[in-house]
Amino acid sequence: MSDNTETFNFQAEISQLMSLIVNAVYQNKEIFLRELISNASDALDKIRYQSLTDPSVLDSGKELKITIVPDNDSKILSIRDTGIGMTKADLINNLGTIAKSGTKAFMERMQETKDASMIGQFGVGFYSAYLVADEVEVISKHNDDEQYVWRSSAGQNFTVTRDTVNEPLGRGTEIRLHLKEDQSEYLEERRIKDIVKKHSEFISYPIHLIVQKEVEKEVPVDEEAKDADADEEKDENKAKIEEVDDEDEEDGGKKPKTKKVKEMETVDEELNQTKPIWTRNPDSIQQDEYNAFYKSLTNDWEDPLAVKHFSVEGQLEFRSILFTPRRAPFDMFEGKKKRNNIKLYVRRVFIMDDCEELIPEWLSFVKGIVDSEDLPLNLSREVLQQNKILKVIRKNLVKKCVDMFNEIAEDKDNFNKFYEAFSKNIKLGIHEDSQNRAKLSEFLRYYSTKSTDEPASLKDYVTRMPEKQKYIYYITGESRQAVESSPFLETLKRKGYEVLFMVDPIDEYAVQQLKEFEGKELKSITKEGLELDDDEEEKQKFEEQKKELEPLCATVKEVLGDKVEKVIVTDLISESPCVILTGQFGWSANMERIMRAQALRDSGGMSSYMASKRTLGLQPTHPIIRELKAKVDADKNDKTVRDLVNLMYESALLSSGFTLDDPSQFANRIYRMIKLGLSLDDDEATAVGASSAEADAPALEDVTESNMEEID
Ligand code: ADP
Ligand code: MG
Repeated sequence: MSDNTETFNFQAEISQLMSLIVNAVYQNKEIFLRELISNASDALDKIRYQSLTDPSVLDSGKELKITIVPDNDSKILSIRDTGIGMTKADLINNLGTIAKSGTKAFMERMQETKDASMIGQFGVGFYSAYLVADEVEVISKHNDDEQYVWRSSAGQNFTVTRDTVNEPLGRGTEIRLHLKEDQSEYLEERRIKDIVKKHSEFISYPIHLIVQKEVEKEVPVDEEAKDADADEEKDENKAKIEEVDDEDEEDGGKKPKTKKVKEMETVDEELNQTKPIWTRNPDSIQQDEYNAFYKSLTNDWEDPLAVKHFSVEGQLEFRSILFTPRRAPFDMFEGKKKRNNIKLYVRRVFIMDDCEELIPEWLSFVKGIVDSEDLPLNLSREVLQQNKILKVIRKNLVKKCVDMFNEIAEDKDNFNKFYEAFSKNIKLGIHEDSQNRAKLSEFLRYYSTKSTDEPASLKDYVTRMPEKQKYIYYITGESRQAVESSPFLETLKRKGYEVLFMVDPIDEYAVQQLKEFEGKELKSITKEGLELDDDEEEKQKFEEQKKELEPLCATVKEVLGDKVEKVIVTDLISESPCVILTGQFGWSANMERIMRAQALRDSGGMSSYMASKRTLGLQPTHPIIRELKAKVDADKNDKTVRDLVNLMYESALLSSGFTLDDPSQFANRIYRMIKLGLSLDDDEATAVGASSAEADAPALEDVTESNMEEID
């Protein structure tokens, strides 16, 4: 090592990742080549993009290509590109010192699956070099810096040296893999060709393979003889000379006499087809070509779930291929992650892979390319934002995506996979895209009071609605289990009305925007103002009950004070005595829960004005309510009423999906009830060890055992 060598420590997780990669036995090691070629291709994209505005960046080399050179003697496989290269600082930052978000996630996946092929998806593809090499050298020349060599044998550190030894690259990067002893198969021509064919066929720069080959040459016998004479003694390595078969000579008396000679020759072969696949006619493209293209585009290890290849012509021209993957990416809804799923080309030239204007956020899982005939090559970010052409392209892409999802929906198994992976995106789309909202709502699937084995579509729901049912009913909550036993279902179930279970937090948002499906309004059954389409007789009866319970409602409201907005009589429940409803336009209990969690996460507390408006609803015929009414009628100031009302309210909060503001007070009330149940007298119980909070709780001494029994 020369004096100008500096040593750097790998960032801790990267070091861990490398030792994992270098030591363990994994499947699909061959993908290291795909990853390195993909990095080379990215680097070539970058220099080509720069050259659009500044052609002089190519003075250091015009030819944009990737070259693979296996060397059998040294057991080194080298992958070289004429891309943008890396400065010294780039080498240090990009290859080892800056943490990558996917490192940990990838290590976890690897330990589970023992399959390395997913590495590229986690943004740490470079380190796949250590699947096959125990030492890696990265020689790189960037226009703005000298040539440097990065070197590491995994472990804790790497070195960076100014390169005074290797031949100058001009510009670009050469990765030298010192192959592990048992990995020399990657020096074989056949093996390399197969891997490139399989994983990198659609890279849009030529990939050359340079091999030393023994070739047979036919040379005239005389010349050869002279050559042979001259070299005979000096050159011991000279290829064997063989007499050409006699048969060949028989009919060609006039032909000069030739001999076949075996020689070592350098053969340079281009391995891939660089004609972009999207420019070809879709009819001529096989599914496995699309699959291969998808994989080289995305580094995914699985085939896509669906593909859409189309062109738009007329006022505006572009071609595009879009793919729906089989899985959601590991970091789909992670904060400010760079979105690079649709590559933008202009007249076959790669422009950028992070054009946010190209596709809306809810479709950020769709991958593919767009190649425009109309956009200018020197697109600046500012231009992009207002570009009309781009707006039209975007609109078309969204439309084609929806078409693609419709095609997926034709096969139930595929659709289930799709929905499992991307239902959140669809719901986000419903929330954000008013134009496609109606179409997207057809993809929604929910379990319900009637669909318990597999989720139903809104169409299924509407089809089986009883004739007199006007609305689509739904309930939101934390889990299916939680909503399934909700008291709000009681009356609707009895009436035979289906209720959809919406248990994904994003449902709360989506349904606020959706509002209706096929002309049928969606109604939350936990919100106030839900009218059940009862017949006249039932309505009449309900009105009477309301009137009758007016005084009770007023007393209960008095007791609860600000805890509730109002107290009403409700016919939504039939088995429970009471529930907590929320305002029609306010948050549901579930939304409150979601916001609370979010507020906690974002560390500020939740301000109280954000909380839902709560209405206590009483079930007019329930025995508890009847008995409470009797007590209030007899004596409005009955001491037990206060305590019972509080208990009922708190129980209703729980069963309606709220959390209690003061759980210990609730618990104390319950303990008092238990004491009563056990016929313990209060002093005795305190001695046994009740908490001090109990002192604050309203007394229950006036509740007698006989009262309790009636209430049960
Ligand atoms: P990713 O490609 O997802 O960014 P990698 O681990 O494959 O992750 O590569 C890490 C980084 O190293 C790249 O982002 C790039 O900046 C740099 N890099 C790797 N290979 C090359 C190359 N051949 N030319 C220039 N830069 C490269
Ligand atoms: Mg990469």
